[in-house]
Amino acid sequence: MSLLTEEHEEIRKSVRKFTDAEVIPVAQELDRKGEQIPREIIEHMAELGYFGLIFPEEYDGVGLDYISMALVAEELSRGWLSVGSVMTRSVITGTLLLTHGTEEQKNKYLPGIARDELMTAAAFTEPDHGSDTGGMQLRATKKGDGYVLNGEKTWCTFANRAHILTVLARTNPDPKSRHKGLSIFLVDKDSGDDGIDHPNISGEPIPTVGYHGMRSFSLSFNDCFVPADNLIGLEENKGFYQLMATYESARIQTAARAVGVAQAAFEAALRYSKERTQFGQPISNFQAIRMKLSEMASRLEAARQLVYYACDMKDSGRRCDLEAGLAKIFAAEMVEYVTREAMQVFGGYGYSKEYPVERYWRDGRVISLFEGTSEIQHEVIARRLLEK
Ligand SMILES: Cc1cc2nc3c(=O)[nH]c(=O)nc-3n(C[C@H](O)[C@H](O)[C@H](O)COP(=O)(O)OP(=O)(O)OC[C@H]3O[C@@H](n4cnc5c(N)ncnc54)[C@H](O)[C@@H]3O)c2cc1C
Repeated sequence: MSLLTEEHEEIRKSVRKFTDAEVIPVAQELDRKGEQIPREIIEHMAELGYFGLIFPEEYDGVGLDYISMALVAEELSRGWLSVGSVMTRSVITGTLLLTHGTEEQKNKYLPGIARDELMTAAAFTEPDHGSDTGGMQLRATKKGDGYVLNGEKTWCTFANRAHILTVLARTNPDPKSRHKGLSIFLVDKDSGDDGIDHPNISGEPIPTVGYHGMRSFSLSFNDCFVPADNLIGLEENKGFYQLMATYESARIQTAARAVGVAQAAFEAALRYSKERTQFGQPISNFQAIRMKLSEMASRLEAARQLVYYACDMKDSGRRCDLEAGLAKIFAAEMVEYVTREAMQVFGGYGYSKEYPVERYWRDGRVISLFEGTSEIQHEVIARRLLEK
């Protein structure tokens, strides 16, 4: 039984149309030049409601389900992973607010996030602490009617364009407090293009292998004041537990992005195998190529179904950290395999910038590194399996 309704298929069709018309024609050239996603594309996505898909209508969201969110992420990523990833930040901060924000915080921020008038960026990772969240050091010290933030963050994607940085900070200075000493703050800033538009935060973009449509920044917070009202849930030392509420949706969304990139690579390989002739016949006649196509298709479809299954669990209100983790880890391995094999089908041309398969290969590589590395996913999954 398919988990997709007719309405879901309509959503897929309409996002596919948007991607074909507005993303695919520009993605390869922008990636090659290292340029960011044009603001017009993001504005159009906002008009189409992509940033507020899973948020309730009372906060200007669209009130759709997680399968719809996955479909949108998948179809946009088929055009360009960066475009399929812009909404991940709104999913994270919006979910944090919905699950742990006060009513005042929800009313103040959620409608803007859902309409993408307020773009957010996640400042969790630090130079010395990535997977080890409990070790985070950026310090939030109480001062007057707020807090002062000092310390370093890294890999904060789209920090330049963001209006809000969602910052994980240490409110309990005792390092032994680990996860129990962290809190989450929303830091307001201006949206810029190249640098970080805030008097007390400086930042530098990190050169990367791919994912060029959004820049990731290392950030330095120097006496950055944040009002106490911007502490999520107005509760100190709950940050780690609040963050956990976002893991399921962010991992589902990330797995869906991998499916989109792999779909693009698979479609390109299928097409090319019929066009390219060697030894007087299309290369799709060769068994080695046919096996590649069928193996790519089977892994791709398996990952897609895992994503929809995790979404269905989430939509029916069931705990799905295990299923979201399985989808994420499988999709991360799948996209590396499929993009590699697509490049192989293209032969030497696959390694040139003439065709986008090289971009799919570079972009797909990042999925196993962020939103929880594959090694950490394995650990989380194993822990859940063993506790059952
Ligand atoms: C393109 C890109 C964009 C990103 N965007 C953001 C963003 O917007 N916001 C943000 O906060 N972060 C972001 N990140 C950071 C990302 O989430 C981290 O890189 C990730 O959490 C891993 O942390 P690390 O790089 O410090 O690696 P480390 O934690 O140092 O890990 C190094 C290696 O050791 C392994 N390892 C670590 N601990 C264990 C363990 N207990 N058991 C087994 N293996 C282990 C890891 O899996 C990895 O293979 C981004 C990263 C990239 C590459």
